[in-house]
Amino acid sequence: MDLCALCSRQSRGFGFCLHLRFDRYPDHRFCSQACLKAGTRLARRSNGMIDKSPMERQAIRDARQPLAEALGELGLLAAFQDRSAGEIDRLIEACIDGFQASMRAQADAGVAPF
Ligand SMILES: [Zn+2]
Repeated sequence: MDLCALCSRQSRGFGFCLHLRFDRYPDHRFCSQACLKAGTRLARRSNGMIDKSPMERQAIRDARQPLAEALGELGLLAAFQDRSAGEIDRLIEACIDGFQASMRAQADAGVAPF
């Protein structure tokens, strides 16, 4: 079982390879029609490759607001008020890393995908 090339969720049968040249370009797998569409657009622009790192950095920044909202709802915002953006991003990355590590471990253990 593979993970989505874009969001690292479990892939679900959506795939893309530039010009269907599996010998020349990477074969990407995706979790959904939405990721397939976005990933295909990226791969077409970058010679078949998907470079997630700039997107990942932006996604981490974009996650700050929903994290702040959740902290606010739980009454925890005050504890984080004096923290730097870098420290907040560490929390976000820890959640993402933990989530992705679990997905890989479950996949490696042969957990049924559906
Ligand atoms: Zn995805």
